[in-house]
Amino acid sequence: MDNIDDNLMLKELASVIDRLENILGRLQQQEQQSPISISSGAYSEPAGRLISHWQKLFVGQLDSASPEPAAAPITTRLSIELEQQLARLRQGRTRLHRAQQLTGKKLHQAAAQLQHSRFKPSQTDALLKTLEHNDEGHEKKLWLLLDCYQSALSLCTEQHSQHQAHYHELCSRLQQLIEEFNFSGEVATELSKIQHQLSQQADATLLPGICLRLIELTIEGCRIERKNSTLFLTRLHGSLGEMQHHFAISLSEGQALFDARTHHGHHIAGELRAIGEHLVNQGSECLKEKIELRMRSISHVLLQHERLQEREQSLLKRMNDMDQQIESLKNETENFKQQLSAQNDKLFIDSLTQIHNRAGMDERLEIEYRRWLRYQSPLCIALIDIDYFKDINDKYGHLAGDKALRLIARTIQQSLRESDFVARFGGEEFIILLNNIDPEHFSTPLEKLRKQVKNIPFRFKEERVTITASIGATLFRQGDSITSALERADQALYSAKRAGRDQIVMD
Ligand code: GH3
Ligand code: MG
Ligand code: MG
Repeated sequence: MDNIDDNLMLKELASVIDRLENILGRLQQQEQQSPISISSGAYSEPAGRLISHWQKLFVGQLDSASPEPAAAPITTRLSIELEQQLARLRQGRTRLHRAQQLTGKKLHQAAAQLQHSRFKPSQTDALLKTLEHNDEGHEKKLWLLLDCYQSALSLCTEQHSQHQAHYHELCSRLQQLIEEFNFSGEVATELSKIQHQLSQQADATLLPGICLRLIELTIEGCRIERKNSTLFLTRLHGSLGEMQHHFAISLSEGQALFDARTHHGHHIAGELRAIGEHLVNQGSECLKEKIELRMRSISHVLLQHERLQEREQSLLKRMNDMDQQIESLKNETENFKQQLSAQNDKLFIDSLTQIHNRAGMDERLEIEYRRWLRYQSPLCIALIDIDYFKDINDKYGHLAGDKALRLIARTIQQSLRESDFVARFGGEEFIILLNNIDPEHFSTPLEKLRKQVKNIPFRFKEERVTITASIGATLFRQGDSITSALERADQALYSAKRAGRDQIVMD
């Protein structure tokens, strides 16, 4: 905020105070030269008129007819009154100065906050566009990678004459696709390893596998990117909220200061006018001229003060607009965050069964494992594999198989507690995590689950069909990593299959 006008006004006030002090000095001088006593009633014109008006103005109750109790020299009393009025003016000046500093500081802070903030609407718009654009890009790349995967598969069966040319073409397509990725961290490291592998004339039979890995990495990179974006938006939302809070405080303080200042300005104006008018009526011609000059200067000061107020009012209005802008930006961020987290959720959901997928499982397993490390509360991991599922597909068709998988997934989910977790591990396999489980009886819920799956009343082609599941389970043990526990559960599942299926093996 520009303080020039304010400073000018303060200077004018200071000079008015100087002048009044000057008048006071002269009055005191006059008293020393010709002392007059109010009790004597012997004061002469113009001093007499000056004194009585002065008394009316500041003492208020003096009746010319009433006897005057005090016998102090009149100019001394006048000096005291004048001194008091000067003190009031000085106080006014200090308050005005403080108000000026405060308003200036607050507005400056608020403006600086906005100016230095990276979260201006235009930039946020750009950010949102980039994020949206990125999603489209990833989707397109996934299709291109699938395309490459198909080419890689046909390359494996191709005649030798065309083979080399197609191999190089495919490698450079893949290289180019990798170049276009903008991932960081582990995904980026793995991508550059694949790039290196591609540049080393890899075996053509490895290309389909490389394509599939690239697809996996794209999904993983996209998932991490979304997670980071959500995190960023959460922080952005928080900062905007905080900023708006401070802004609202500045705004209301600014308004309060503005009101106080307006009020104060009127008060000072009234005081100055009153002092001026009465002094003009009283003083000697020379004094009168000087005071009139001062009065004009005071009017000028008051005019400036009014202009300053108008400017302040428009500044407050601008701040108000900014406040509304921040509010709408905050809402926009919140909307986007919700959209993003809904899309994020989709990345963790298996489209066929609508339960969590492997990526969702990885994330949750990591969380549960860390919790187990910290609190050591028993954590069970179990793998469920549907028995002879291939036969179901073969006998009743893939669609019937899909339907069965959906129903099995729902049954498993319903059989678990809220705090347990289930995901489709792949194909006809599921994984479950049971936390805080009684280590002595952790087979009980699994046994219940196995029975419930077995009791699903499937009917395919008018035929009643029973589908069973084998389960391998283990508890996390001292020194376990996620992989070691998973391997143990897998071994237990293998044992359950070998032992005749439709049963649970615990390791
Ligand atoms: P086992 O008792 O040894 O587990 O026998 P299985 O037939 O279940 O095991 P196998 O691994 O030989 O076959 C698994 C079958 O699961 C093969 C595949 O067609 C089927 N499958 C995997 N995913 C899906 C799917 O999404 N839908 C359908 N309909 N079938 C699937
Ligand atoms: Mg299987
Ligand atoms: Mg199976």
